[in-house]
Amino acid sequence: MVLAKRIGQIKPSPTLAIDTKCKALAAQGVDIVNFGIGEPDFDTPDNIRQAAIQAIREGFTRYTAVGGIPDLKEAIIQKFKADNNLDYRPEEIVVSCGGKHSLYNLFQVLFERGDEVMVPAPYWVSYPPMLLLAEAVPVIVATPEDNGFKLTPERLRECLTPRTKGLILNSPSNPTGSVYTRQELEALAEVILEHHLFVISDDIYEKILFDGQEFVSLAQLDPELKARTFVLNGVSKTYAMTGWRIGYMAGLETVIKAVTKIQSQSTSNPNSIAQKAAVEALRGPQDSVAAMVQEFAWRRDDILSRLAQLPGVSCMRPGGAFYVFPNFSQYYKYLQPGPEESFSDVLANYLLEEAHVAVVAGSGFGEDNCLRFSYATSRERIATGVERLRQALEKLGG
Ligand code: PMP
Ligand code: GLU
Repeated sequence: MVLAKRIGQIKPSPTLAIDTKCKALAAQGVDIVNFGIGEPDFDTPDNIRQAAIQAIREGFTRYTAVGGIPDLKEAIIQKFKADNNLDYRPEEIVVSCGGKHSLYNLFQVLFERGDEVMVPAPYWVSYPPMLLLAEAVPVIVATPEDNGFKLTPERLRECLTPRTKGLILNSPSNPTGSVYTRQELEALAEVILEHHLFVISDDIYEKILFDGQEFVSLAQLDPELKARTFVLNGVSKTYAMTGWRIGYMAGLETVIKAVTKIQSQSTSNPNSIAQKAAVEALRGPQDSVAAMVQEFAWRRDDILSRLAQLPGVSCMRPGGAFYVFPNFSQYYKYLQPGPEESFSDVLANYLLEEAHVAVVAGSGFGEDNCLRFSYATSRERIATGVERLRQALEKLGG
């Protein structure tokens, strides 16, 4: 069977692949410590679940408006105003089947064959494949670890070409947990405006921020910038709602309208019941978010101090999200990757097989020296996992 060429250009999502592997091993009775997939290990708060149950009871089970029910759009508009001081109209908002879906549709609408889109590395695994599916060219821009893996205006300028059309920013970042400050964004904004770039601001980890930092979205810096920025957000991470599949995006009306058109011809509306749940998530009590973030902050400190005791492993201190991205390259001298493999793939596989610890190889994030750990798992499992890791690394020769 010959498949369309475009599908040959991409690999399955490595974050979801590791999760499939973990689930299969767990089904066989293997005790895996899962630092793999990035999803909160908390239950969706009860008020949100009750809202969904009520939606079913009331028979809210039919097709809805393609781009989201008016009530949800209103709740999103209020969220943007209250949290980010951003004003949007309903026509500038679209709700999709997860933030991933909003992004996929946006890329289809914004980019033509050959358009270059800058993707600062390390990046979330799905940006380059989604750009390739839109026939755009992901231009991977390496950012140095000693700058917290953050893009600087100088790096941005160096990589600009006449075909550069867009830039993806993600703060707090998956996989590094880096957070851009207002000053850093302002410095990037100058170059963005000078070169008329479109920006995709992936704010999905907005609320998972530590040490009393201020969250700043690029769009809020200046009205001209707002007109060039598409702000992505969703309920998956903030409200532990990954399985509900509700994400949303705000930006220029013409683009949002086009994204909605794609949805009308592909997925129709996002799930009706999940939309009602998302309204409650955004409008209801927010104390569960604060409790979750506090627990994540504790775990961040805990996993960092445990990783610091591993010889030859270094790790940047993340300011947000629920990932750490330690550097394991000191161990690469003991590994022999095959022709299609990278060092981080080999090490991640070794750790899964030898230690029954699941992590995601840095290769999928564009940084082969590192492995990504999601610490969205209990305090006990973090302790067990890092201890297993220590033993497996020792065996390797460290
Ligand atoms: N952006 C980033 C950086 C992510 O880590 C995720 C996690 N899946 C998403 C977007 C999309 O999340 P979702 O589709 O669950 O809304
Ligand atoms: N974003 C999460 C992760 O990075 C969930 C899986 C995915 O959508 O990639 O693990």
